Amino acid sequence: MKLIEIENLTVQLGGHTALNNVDLAIESGEIVTIVGPNGSGKSTLIRTIIGALSQTSGKITRREGLRIGYVPQRLFIDPTLPITVNRFLCLPRKADPSAMEEALSQANVSDLATQQMTRLSGGQFQRVLFARALLERPELLILDEATQGLDQSGSADFYRQIADTRDRTGCAVLMVSHDLHVVMSASDRVICLNGHICCQGKPEYVASAPEYRLLFGEGTKGTLALYRHHHHSKSDKSEEKSEAIE
Ligand code: ADP
Ligand code: MG
Repeated sequence: MKLIEIENLTVQLGGHTALNNVDLAIESGEIVTIVGPNGSGKSTLIRTIIGALSQTSGKITRREGLRIGYVPQRLFIDPTLPITVNRFLCLPRKADPSAMEEALSQANVSDLATQQMTRLSGGQFQRVLFARALLERPELLILDEATQGLDQSGSADFYRQIADTRDRTGCAVLMVSHDLHVVMSASDRVICLNGHICCQGKPEYVASAPEYRLLFGEGTKGTLALYRHHHHSKSDKSEEKSEAIE
């Protein structure tokens, strides 16, 4: 069954066409990963799907009553504002204590319930965001570069957990990643985006597709080639930072 169907989606932002004629459907229970260079419209696509941005043209059909859990690319919390993990989970609305406990345990951070949000490490913070998304009991879980700031093994671990969640709850997952090779084993389908869909299919197929290789360069270190190629930045770290601030 289709949870979401996107037809001919075009999104312009400040006169710039961020997405052009994108077609995409998400079926119940599947894990779909979007890969693409910085600025290729990945977050724009996600934010249009959750309704935070409106499309310039095209059509998005959501299954009626669809429950979406969303893990944003970045979330800033005022460091002077004391807020515990449990209180954070009750934003924007109060959650049931047993549901909170369950969500934290599923995200593997049960021990952090009374911890201050501002004292969490990057990985712990992302897991708390993940727990908050799980509180929605999502039928579609959407994650925008949720492992930013985690190392490769931390990311791989996180993606395994996402795949476990899908297996346990049957939810579909739509996620954005910079590193196809880390998410390959957890993805049913990969979409390579660069303002439009360049290619899509099974992870192994996309990894070897010429369109993908053109964007990401050869080999597993393609991400670095991509930063240099598209942004001529001095280091990929600075690029990562500028994205974190947006
Ligand atoms: P990604 O998530 O793939 O890195 P984004 O979806 O964030 O890319 O951005 C896609 C493009 O749209 C980029 O070129 C970006 O600079 C541009 N963009 C994003 N937000 C805005 C905005 N509010 N106004 C104008 N351009 C924007
Ligand atoms: Mg993005």
